[in-house]
Amino acid sequence: MKNIAILGASGSIGQQAIDVIAHHPEHFKLVGLTVGKRVDEAIDIVERFNPEIVSVQHEKDIARFAAYDVKVVHGAEGLKAVATSSHNDLVLNALVGSVGLPPTIAAIEQGIDIALANKETLVVAGELVMGYAKKYGVNILPVDSEHAAIFQCLNGESKRQVKKITITASGGSFRDLTRDQLETVTVADALNHPNWSMGQKITIDSATMMNKGFEVIEAKWLFDLNIDQIETILHKESIIHSMVEFVDTSVMAQLGTPDMRMPIQYAFTYPNRIEHDAPSLDLSEVMQLNFKKMDLDRYRCLKYAYDALKIGGTMPVVLNAVNEVAVAKFLNQEIGFLDIERLIEREMKAHQVIEHPTLEQILDIDQQYKSKEYEV
Ligand code: NDP
Ligand code: MG
Repeated sequence: MKNIAILGASGSIGQQAIDVIAHHPEHFKLVGLTVGKRVDEAIDIVERFNPEIVSVQHEKDIARFAAYDVKVVHGAEGLKAVATSSHNDLVLNALVGSVGLPPTIAAIEQGIDIALANKETLVVAGELVMGYAKKYGVNILPVDSEHAAIFQCLNGESKRQVKKITITASGGSFRDLTRDQLETVTVADALNHPNWSMGQKITIDSATMMNKGFEVIEAKWLFDLNIDQIETILHKESIIHSMVEFVDTSVMAQLGTPDMRMPIQYAFTYPNRIEHDAPSLDLSEVMQLNFKKMDLDRYRCLKYAYDALKIGGTMPVVLNAVNEVAVAKFLNQEIGFLDIERLIEREMKAHQVIEHPTLEQILDIDQQYKSKEYEV
């Protein structure tokens, strides 16, 4: 029996993780969870799973749990309290944004393994997080489908024999549009992802291709690769989740239907596998797997992510923070779709990089760029 805490249980990944736990009560017990504003979701989960601790974003919501035998905490400290609760064997971090960084570090310091969906954590502090994980002997198990794929391809292989990895990208909602057409797209268009049903922020990140940029950075830290070993390719069917080429030119790929419950479950059971009730992949139904070269002029956010990774230091923190603000503004219909990348480019150009930042410096820069007033 594995005791699991879920940070971000009301989100897209969080709810799919709840589904995985509900299907395997003989393997997993939910001991803690956090939600942000969706308190009804938390109450429903508390009723179904009887966890020990729950955290909500706002203190005012604590009173809503009065009828239940559960410890209730709140805010940033609440996230850490759930992440470090003493009965956890594993914490699934399914928060969105860099708010996921402090509880990840807190759990690592307690020696608790992390199933990581929250890619922003590795974007802003990959070097630090992986360093802490090594120091405390903690496994960081990737949930992102591309990284779960690479992780599986690398199982039992020597890292020294990896030539390169290829991260596949569906292309998001606007994969068939030109840059001119992107000027006038709407929020509703952007939220209409062809292959995956996900939270709003990652759906926009997929449309701008920033999501793939984040995944490049995430892969660098998870698998300790050089930037020139990390390639991206368009693959609109989202069937090949990613690939690894070895020094002898042999390529291994991991395939599956686009269903995040599989990588979530694998992170929960690693290094074992248990049954999963999703339909099997039927290639005779898929019929075709298409690939297209990635164009960094078309997908500028991916280029900025490669640039930020090359520059290093606090540049990826700026990339992420400005992106978080810009995506929120786009969702709020305050700025246009292409303004997202324009803001990021402008702020990256102006940023004075701090090399090898401490955790405090990272959190400080993150806050500075999130609280800044932006003109477009
Ligand atoms: P969602 O927006 O659906 O869920 C985010 C979760 O985080 C919600 O539970 C939300 O709470 C909570 N949350 C957000 N802000 C705060 C805050 N300030 N304090 C406390 N809780 C907060 O996101 P997804 O599930 O789509 O994505 C989660 C992460 O996983 C992201 O990093 C994403 O990039 C990554 N990922 C997602 C995939 C997917 O298929 N969805 C695939 C691969 C990676 P509430 O809603 O209650 O306010
Ligand atoms: Mg992904």
